[in-house]
Amino acid sequence: MKKKYSLRVQLVFILLIFVIAVMGLVYFVQTTFLDDFYKTNKIKSLSSVAYSIADMIGDEDFDEIIEHMSMSNEVCVRVVSNKEDYCYSGPCTLKGIDNNTINMIASEVVAQDNGEKLFDNFRYQRHFQDKPEDVYIFAKMIEYDEERILILVSSGITPLNTTISTIKSQYLLISSIIVAMTIILALILSRFILKPIKQINNESKNLSKGEYDATKVATNSLELSELNEGLEKANEDILKAEKAKKELLGNVSHDLRTPLTMIVGYGEMMRDLPEENNEDNINVIIDEAKRLSTLVDDLIDISKIDAIKLELNRTEVDLNDFLSSVYRQYEKYCQTQKIDFSLKLSDDIKVSIDEKRIKQILYNFINNSLNYNNKDKQVIELGSEKIDDFYRVYVYDNGEGIEANDIKNIWDRYYKVDKEHKRHHIGSGIGLSLAKELLEAHGLNYGVESQKGEYSKFYFDIKPV
Ligand code: ADP
Repeated sequence: MKKKYSLRVQLVFILLIFVIAVMGLVYFVQTTFLDDFYKTNKIKSLSSVAYSIADMIGDEDFDEIIEHMSMSNEVCVRVVSNKEDYCYSGPCTLKGIDNNTINMIASEVVAQDNGEKLFDNFRYQRHFQDKPEDVYIFAKMIEYDEERILILVSSGITPLNTTISTIKSQYLLISSIIVAMTIILALILSRFILKPIKQINNESKNLSKGEYDATKVATNSLELSELNEGLEKANEDILKAEKAKKELLGNVSHDLRTPLTMIVGYGEMMRDLPEENNEDNINVIIDEAKRLSTLVDDLIDISKIDAIKLELNRTEVDLNDFLSSVYRQYEKYCQTQKIDFSLKLSDDIKVSIDEKRIKQILYNFINNSLNYNNKDKQVIELGSEKIDDFYRVYVYDNGEGIEANDIKNIWDRYYKVDKEHKRHHIGSGIGLSLAKELLEAHGLNYGVESQKGEYSKFYFDIKPV
């Protein structure tokens, strides 16, 4: 397995690598190219002085200007013409150059197309020094008043070895200080960043028990706050699921036990009392067995939805035909029960649905309308209506309705508004959560409008193909 490091170590490591890389680059550039930078700059300043002098030839205060220019640029200037020979600035290397050398320089400059030349390996021996000095001379020849004037600008070359070694030792010191500062910075940063992460980490160990406490995490970071909120939400969901699981077990075992008791009871009664062996009693046993079967079907469906992504088998169907077939399933039953069950159709459109699944949803809506309808005159309506560019398929009932607070929860699995749930009709508390999963798989908008004690209208919206 790959070795894992704490975030603190990683942060220190990354920052150190970055700083060392930057320092190394600066060090390399400074020490390697310093010499070249120096020479290039020197040459630039020599040539620019020579050009300025060339422009000023003929000025009244030529002498002063040139003196000032050579001082401020720390260069030596010598202007030689057929008539005059000026030499400016104090310790001027050019002063001591003899006429032969001047003539040699002049002839080399004249030979250039642009009338200028840089002598970058000129050795000059001053009379009071042991070793000859290396100088740069920039020479430019111009014509003025039919006179040929040679402008010479020169400067000594300071050997940079000492400068470079100073820079090197300075770098060692600066690098050590920066590395130390980086480590301190990384530790401070990691404290800020890691503290809330550690808190989240500690708290998340309690998540499986549903004991995540978001208030124990203090952070100003947006991302970490979101993570904290996400875990808090997961914690709530875990608690909810835990509670729902307990409720389901209670409900399911109750729902299983009751029909089983009835089946066993009626069976024994019919065995012991031959006169009770009649159609009515057999029907009770069949009804109760069907109730068991529906409950088991619901449970199987819900476990399927959990296990695999639901696959839909869509076909194009006539919405009105489809709704009529659902209506017919309940028509007889409602007639015998004196329930006012009606079908209200809108335009005949074609829709693309998984017929079996959508039927399952509508059966669930209608079963609920039968279950939760305690009015003397029960009214249930199955229908479709056009709203904007879509059609709303609904099941309306004038039943007990749903409290506003409960509306958002009824689509949750195992949620039952009334804990003392009724047994007159089949219901496991998972019907609507199944409907929700199936409608979402279809990509359909769905919902419920309801008024406690007045009515409920469960619906989904569908567009024609
Ligand atoms: P079940 O009906 O098995 O309890 P459902 O998931 O189908 O489970 O419904 C969840 C809850 O929503 C029901 O327990 C009930 O409280 C409420 N409910 C659903 N349909 C209606 C309705 N038509 N009228 C009133 N309450 C309803």
